[in-house]
This record gives sequence, structure tokens and C-alpha cells, in this order.
Amino acid sequence: ASILSFDYIIIGGGTSGLVVASRLSEVSHINVAVIEAGDSVFSNPNVTDLNKFTAALGTEIDWQYESTEQKYAGRGKIAYHGGKALGGTSTINGMTYIRAEKAQIDSWGIIGNRGWNWESLLPYYEKSEQFVVPTVAQTEAGASYVPSDHGEKGLLKVGYSYGLLNGSFVDEVEASWSTLGISHNPDSNGGHVRGFTVWQSTLDREANVREDAARAYYYPFQSRPNLHVFLKTTANKIIWKDSTEIIADGVEITSANGTVSMLKAKKEVIVSAGSLRSPAILELSGIGNPGILSKYGIPLKVPLPGVGENLQDQPNTAITLQAQRAFNGTMAYATFGSLADIRINLPSSSSLKLWASTVSAAINSSLPATSLYQLFQIQYALLSRGVPDAETIIGTTMNFGLGPSGVVGSAFWLLMPFSRGSVHIASTDPKLYPDINPNFFLVDFDLEVQIAIAKWTREFWDTDHMRGMVTELSPGFEALPRNATDEEWGDWVKGSFSSNSHPLGTASMMSRELGGVVDSRLKVYGTKNIRVVDASVMPFQVSGHLTSTLYAMAEKAADLIKEDLLNV
Ligand code: FAD
Repeated sequence: ASILSFDYIIIGGGTSGLVVASRLSEVSHINVAVIEAGDSVFSNPNVTDLNKFTAALGTEIDWQYESTEQKYAGRGKIAYHGGKALGGTSTINGMTYIRAEKAQIDSWGIIGNRGWNWESLLPYYEKSEQFVVPTVAQTEAGASYVPSDHGEKGLLKVGYSYGLLNGSFVDEVEASWSTLGISHNPDSNGGHVRGFTVWQSTLDREANVREDAARAYYYPFQSRPNLHVFLKTTANKIIWKDSTEIIADGVEITSANGTVSMLKAKKEVIVSAGSLRSPAILELSGIGNPGILSKYGIPLKVPLPGVGENLQDQPNTAITLQAQRAFNGTMAYATFGSLADIRINLPSSSSLKLWASTVSAAINSSLPATSLYQLFQIQYALLSRGVPDAETIIGTTMNFGLGPSGVVGSAFWLLMPFSRGSVHIASTDPKLYPDINPNFFLVDFDLEVQIAIAKWTREFWDTDHMRGMVTELSPGFEALPRNATDEEWGDWVKGSFSSNSHPLGTASMMSRELGGVVDSRLKVYGTKNIRVVDASVMPFQVSGHLTSTLYAMAEKAADLIKEDLLNV
């Protein structure tokens, strides 16, 4: 059979990949192929139903990854979820739409990425977004927004569901936070997340369904003759041109029936398989740490020790409570606080050197302590300027058992951990999962912050406004009394946390010297025509949730790719 050939091949039809595919295929003479391991989930109720968050987890549309043993937490393996479907993880996630803090995006520029800061990303946040203005009833239930912070002409619908109810409860929550010095944030999407807010979601209010990347960016354009999607197809590795330069010739794929073949890329290969998978595809293709590649006998194409490193994820812990009355409808309240809000001091900056050497030693010096030290200084500066490091939510939907049962879930996490881990191949078989090691609580300060957020969250539920309304079920005051020591709090946190499902950084956009994998045009160092566009390239954690920033980043990536096409 003749080899199929495309201008651009996108590995992974997920959150970021479909944005790039959609925007590139706007140009009718550009031929785009998307390789997606999963299937269409357009009418899967576990995806579409707004009240079914978590129902898809553990099903065939979840990759069901797990971490390696988390020794610094004294824990075994921890579950990791990822969407295996057209639309990727946006088809199974919690739908929360909260952008990064302005200063965090600015820090991408501070580490040397030209053209990346809040001001230049904001137009892309807005380009991606189709904000749906809340109704009067929704506003009474707590929905609020600042019009100038939103785009209304984008492809991705963002807003509030008709399930948003409980106007009185929102007043109690707001009043309780204000006694702790946290005021109402009228819109957490304007570059400052601190405060209490009723969050906005990626959903289609009128159709009453989840808005995922496929619904926003693919299905409306699926009839384009220049847009080809290969479903149930695995990308194995990049195939190279026979050249002294490092040029991708195409991608080796395994089709649903097990046939192995090649798709040819005339222009570029864009790796968008997500932060837990994209580094593995690079490694299988010969790009990465020479020590790791030689262990598996993979011929080295580009020595790039940063591939798979710099993994940052947040630990998520939850308190559950029994409310005195049942709540019907959706509650989606988020509160962000700085270290000062949660009453914890930033240790002296002299700790940073120690943390950098601790982390570097734990990852076999794949990132040198000197690089980590530079990165930590920037992260430290953000924290000392009051960028929120704590998020605590009162969630919605069935996983928290809200509604008639009256069980309320209150989950919280530290936003900017100093711990760093890695994702690396564990085999040359592309179907086998990589080793995922986030190194939770490798840096002690991360645990201190998580404990402080736990206490702060409990303090909120213990305010006069809330106390009469709820009774704590878990951990409960017997297991963890009001006067519990930090050691007891720490044991509870380490014993009960899960991943917050925000892994990123494994192919970071930063200089090669710092351990970066892609440059500021998202090109993989040392290659002519390979980019990474997904959560892997985000060099630091963000306050807020990832998809809003990924949609914006991918919109910008599509423009960068189009620009480069004109400039060759
Ligand atoms: P993905 O969307 O995961 O896309 C990667 C795609 O590549 C997938 O479709 C995958 O099947 C495909 N793929 C992988 N390997 C291959 C291969 N070898 N060949 C072919 N295809 C391949 N973020 C928020 O903003 N709000 C939330 O409420 C929220 N809640 C979350 C809840 C959960 C349970 C999880 C897991 C995540 C949540 N997130 C949330 C995080 C967010 O959804 C992800 O960070 C984001 O969707 C990742 O996008 P991505 O483009 O990096 O990768």
C-alpha cells in the first residue's frame, strides 16, 4: 500500500492537540492528520452528563496510569487518570475553567521564553473562549464575572450550568471566608485568583453537556477534507529522515487491527500526547537522556536530559462533612489563598539551595542543582509576592455525594510544589506505560504547606457561619482532634492524599541549559521539525486549573506554526 502523507501530523487528539489540528486545518491547503489512541466519545453519557464527573474514571476511556511507589510520602503507587478518547483528558476532567495567575505566566518569559507573558497569552485565552453570560437566577446563585476578562467569540463554551443553585448557601460560604480575611473575587479569570469565587466551567449550558476539546474544536469541523483523524491508533515513535540534520519523516503507528505502518509528515510532527506520555514518545524516538536511551538500546538522535524531568503535580486531600440539610443542585466554590493567608512563613531563601540539591540527587542529577536553584528562585519570588499557593474547593457532582444525601466534599491542595519528579519509559514497547514518579513531598516544605491548607480549610468549616450547618465526617475530630500536632496532620495528609491530576513540566519550555526540552516556539531542541504542544511544556505549576491555559497555549502554538510556515 502507498504511504499516506500529510503536512502536519499531530500525535494525540487531546485537549491541546485538537486545538492545533482545528486551527491548522482552517487553511484549506494544509493537510493535517491526528493520531488518537482512543475513540470518539461524543455520546458517552459518562462524558456528556454534567453531573457525572468521575464516572468515566476507571473505564475504557481512562488510561488508568499509576505512579511508582511514593517513598517520601510513605505510600505505595497512586492512581493517575488520563483521557483515552478524542478530546483527551478534557472528556473526563472536572470541567473547572480557572486561568493561571498573571505573574506565573510572566515567569515563563522571565526564564527566557521570548514572547511568553500574561499580556501576550491573554488574547489567546480570549480567542479560545466563548463565554456564556450567566442568567439573573445564576447570578443570584453566586455566578459572577467581569466582562472585560472574557472572550465571547471563541470555540470553547465557558459558563455556568442551570444546575447552579443554593443561593443562600453561597452567602454563608462567602461570609465565612470573609471572617478569615478572604474576600469575594468577582472573576478568578482576570489574572488574579486570590479570593472566593463560584467557578466557571467548560460546559454547553443550552445543550446541557460537557464542552470538551472535541466538541469545541473538532466535531464542528470534521467534514473538512484536509483534516484526518485516525482513531484507535497508537503512535509508536517518530521515523527519521536519512539526513545529517534531525528531521522527522513521519510517525510509526499501530492501527486498531494491530497493523504497523507509517504516516509521512511533509512539514512537522507535533507531539500532544499529554505530560505523562509525550516524553515517552520522544524517548522511544531517540530524544532524551543518553543514559536512559542506551539502557533500552534506542539509538540516540538528540541528547536532551530534560526529557521527562521537571514533573510537577499537586497533592490533593479532602475533608468530608455531613450537612444539616440536603443541597439539590451544583455547588462549585473555589477559594485561593497566599502563604500569608494560610499563616505559613516562607522559609529563608537559603533553603532553596538545599531543596535544589535534594531534588537533583533524587532524580540522579538529570537536572543539575544549579538549574533547579534558578527555577526555585523564580518560584520563591512568586510566593513571596503573594501569588496563591493554596486552593480549597467545595465541590459538586456525585463524587462528592452532594445533593439529597447532604454529604459535602471539601478538597484542597498546594499549588506550587517544590518537589520535582519524572516520567520515563520502562520498556521499548510503546504500548507499555512509562514510569511516573511525581516524588510527592520530596521537599519538606510541600508537606508543611499542605498541612497549613488542611488546617485553614477546617478552620473555615469551624467558623460560626458554618459550624451549625455541617458535621465533619472525615477525618473527624476523633481521628484528628482540634489540637492535633503537625506530625499527626502530616500523617493524615500523607496517608490520604491523591494526585490532583495536574501533572506538567515533562518537556519544559525553557533554555537547554536549564534542562528545557522545547524553545519558545515549542520546537524540540536539536530537531528541525518537531514540537511539543500540551501540558508537558508548562515549566512551572499554575494556580488555577490547567485546561484554560492549555487551550490558550495551543491557540498560540497554532499561530506560531502558521507563522513559521510563511517564513521558510
Ligand atoms: P490530553 O488531553 O490528555 O491529551 C493527550 C491525548 O493523547 C489523549 O487523547 C491520549 O489518548 C492521546 N495519546 C496518548 N498517547 C498516545 C499515543 N501513543 N498515540 C496516540 N494517542 C495518544 N483541568 C482543568 O482545567 N479543570 C478541571 O476540572 C480538571 N479536572 C481534572 C480531573 C481529572 C480526573 C484529570 C485526570 C485531569 C483534570 N484536569 C482538569 C487537568 C486537565 O484536564 C489536563 O491537564 C488536560 O486535559 C491535559 O491536556 P493535554 O493536551 O496535555 O493532554
